[in-house]
Amino acid sequence: MRTFKIRGATGPSTVMVGSCLDQLPALCNGRQPVIITDATVRGRWGHVFPPGPVVCIGQGEPAKTLETAQAVYRQLAALEADRTTLVIGIGGGIVCDLAGFCAATYMRGLDFGFVPTTLLAQVDASVGGKNGVNLDGYKNLIGVFQQPAFVICDPCFIATLPPAEVQNGLAEAVKHGAIANAGLLEFLETLPDGACLQPEALARLVAESVTIKAAVVNADEKEAGPRRILNFGHTIGHAVEKVTGLSHGRAVSVGMVFAAALSVSLGLLAAQKAARLKGVLERLGLPTALDRTWAPAVAEALGKDKKRRGQDVDFVFLSDLGRAVVQPLALDRLKGLVLGANSAP
Ligand code: NAD
Repeated sequence: MRTFKIRGATGPSTVMVGSCLDQLPALCNGRQPVIITDATVRGRWGHVFPPGPVVCIGQGEPAKTLETAQAVYRQLAALEADRTTLVIGIGGGIVCDLAGFCAATYMRGLDFGFVPTTLLAQVDASVGGKNGVNLDGYKNLIGVFQQPAFVICDPCFIATLPPAEVQNGLAEAVKHGAIANAGLLEFLETLPDGACLQPEALARLVAESVTIKAAVVNADEKEAGPRRILNFGHTIGHAVEKVTGLSHGRAVSVGMVFAAALSVSLGLLAAQKAARLKGVLERLGLPTALDRTWAPAVAEALGKDKKRRGQDVDFVFLSDLGRAVVQPLALDRLKGLVLGANSAP
């Protein structure tokens, strides 16, 4: 087991990676937690939940809303949860984002921890203290920064994850490689088919991703500067996700290829490196093309991106594999590129 520390303004966060589920009882520290999960995770993994009341939320992005948060608040009130209550989110990124948001806002904040059960939640969503919900289909417009007291990333959960969900997680691992660690990309490039499901490979993917994310969050918890590189592929990705209903990882895959092509057209990145990134994603079975039939709706959705600053958007480009740069890009120019009105990418 490896342990990572995040020093958040709201408190420290300990992220454990490896065979570490057995740490959960000690982390409850004598308290009976309220568990927030979804029906699939409860059905598959309810037998490992610590004793305590279970609050089940719906599944998919449409469940990640203020309405669901309200329903959770009501259940917490009915359970007479108070400032001493520990909340544990056990599930994928949607459970973690929503459970963290509810815990951070109910009675001005309860202690909470996560047991992420998807690869995407282990490599990304559970780490870093961003908790939130969507508004009218626009991603994560409402949220807070608050670190979970603990995160338990145990590869055992991945055994029951459908292959398409594993691919979603691999997309975010590719993102971490693309922005900060070319060696991680090389690892994914050379892994024999199916080998990424082996516990050792999973532990390495998660540990390397958490290493990158923890370092970036420790440098800039509230995303005033360097943390913005974690949004690589997400400007287009979030718009694609809203418009097409494609899952988060798949939409980010499309967004990363678009951003890499744009980096090439601006002279920041060698074409052969963008092709390599696209090749890794294709090899993992992820989509890479921005379908032109989506373009008008994607261009429209870009206006609601959180990374927007007035008429510009903070766009994450690559200057190399393993190195990202953030530069303002005029929103109208980006919309034009999406619509194919301009020559690149
Ligand atoms: P998800 O939470 O929807 O989970 C995918 C599906 O897998 C669900 O149906 C779930 O029930 C099921 N599942 C979960 N664990 C399982 C298991 N072990 N076995 C079988 N089925 C299982 O999707 P996700 O990809 O985990 O998360 C996506 C969300 O994460 C998005 O809303 C995205 O915005 C968010 N996210 C947040 C951050 C952050 O920093 N807060 C970062 C990246 C992504």
